[in-house]
Amino acid sequence: MNASSSSPDDPARASSISDPARASSISDPARASSISDPARASSISDPARAYALDLLDFIGQSPSPWHATASAVQRLHAAGYQALQERDAWQLVAGGRYYVVRGGSSLIAFVAGMAAPAEAGFRLVGAHTDSPGLRLKPHAAHLNGGFLRLGVEVYGGPILATFTDRDLGLAGRVHLRAPVAADAAAVLLTVRSPVVRLPNLAIHMNREVNEQGLKLHRQNELHLLFATENAGREGAFHHWVAQQLQCDPANVLGVELQVCDVQPGVLWGGRQEFIASSQLDNLACTHAGLCALLSVQQPDHTAVAAFFDHEEVGSESAVGAAGSFFSDVLARISEALGAHGSDAARARAHSLFLSADMAHAWHPNFPAAYEPQHHLRINAGPAIKYNASQRYATDGAGAARFMQWCEGAGVPWQSYVHRSELGCGSTIGPLVAARLGIPTVDVGAPMWAMHSLRESAGALDSYWLHLAMARALQSG
Ligand SMILES: [Zn+2]
Repeated sequence: MNASSSSPDDPARASSISDPARASSISDPARASSISDPARASSISDPARAYALDLLDFIGQSPSPWHATASAVQRLHAAGYQALQERDAWQLVAGGRYYVVRGGSSLIAFVAGMAAPAEAGFRLVGAHTDSPGLRLKPHAAHLNGGFLRLGVEVYGGPILATFTDRDLGLAGRVHLRAPVAADAAAVLLTVRSPVVRLPNLAIHMNREVNEQGLKLHRQNELHLLFATENAGREGAFHHWVAQQLQCDPANVLGVELQVCDVQPGVLWGGRQEFIASSQLDNLACTHAGLCALLSVQQPDHTAVAAFFDHEEVGSESAVGAAGSFFSDVLARISEALGAHGSDAARARAHSLFLSADMAHAWHPNFPAAYEPQHHLRINAGPAIKYNASQRYATDGAGAARFMQWCEGAGVPWQSYVHRSELGCGSTIGPLVAARLGIPTVDVGAPMWAMHSLRESAGALDSYWLHLAMARALQSG
């Protein structure tokens, strides 16, 4: 089936390739409307609903990239994966399950193939662990006008207005003086109660806000309110952090905290077919890749799931997708499984990378924002993303492979192209494709309000995406 035949403008066509059992999981609206409890009127199948709730759980435990990595590690551990350290020599066995973390916020996990990578290649899926938002500056706390405020930097491209008038917590990591010299020890900190706030200016002082939109000066108007001056001097925040960790303030050497939404994610809608949460971009794809890897059974090829920090700021870092982490780990897997000479290059030459990042669902209130022939419908399946300028790495051959994985998994798909006059976002796909020389397909689940603190999507699409990713990792 070619790309045009899967046009999302024809939902009947898009769903015609899916498993009829799944497609018919949308229940009869008349029947649903007779049930008063919205949860019981859910229009999605039980496995899809359970998957969506598990995704919300995963996001709830992952308010920062360090937490997301720790949440993934926890699941990998529970499934019997062994930790590898980059500083150690690796001894891998065919069929073994392993993971390696770099910098606390990027993670690569894999099932070593039954055949050498030079013979069977890698099947790779990837996503990112970070989300745009507000990050505390090193000396964040300062007194001003009778308040103790926290200064922030903007990380990536959040919709700043969505951070106002919300109950905000703090999450990230704190570096403590190690008990015995050497390295400082990092501990994760999550404060899920509303401890900071960014109140709006009243409309009486900002009469144009509804016509002009909310404009916030990044240096002057994003300070988070933390306490009144009575709470103490600037050091009060440092003490408060130490108190959260029940440690001596003198042992707190560094703080890397970001703002997080304290409101848990939910299924919503009269038929509970939508999902809302912070960080759907891109923890929905990280979760999908992780679930896909955990379902893999002993393939000949080596199945790999890679999750990178710093995508929202360009990926150029030691832990980012533009750094050496991915190539280092693939080379070491090849080597540990017996590669010589050109074997590592041979392994890459018959590999394929599926880069998963969220996609822009068509919004019925803003039809002019979208390319008319490439509307992505909510709950109509994952999107294959195309861009002639290679901001997405998909080519026709890769797209055809993805379509076949979808067909094999009973999953519908759609095609996405950004409007020609608008700048298109990018993903880790083109970076990995360029640096590793591995053909790459950019895909993702459709969503609304990308980079809002409270994003939304269909409850079905991530479920479908993970089925397609599982097929990619298993069948190659
Ligand atoms: Zn993203």
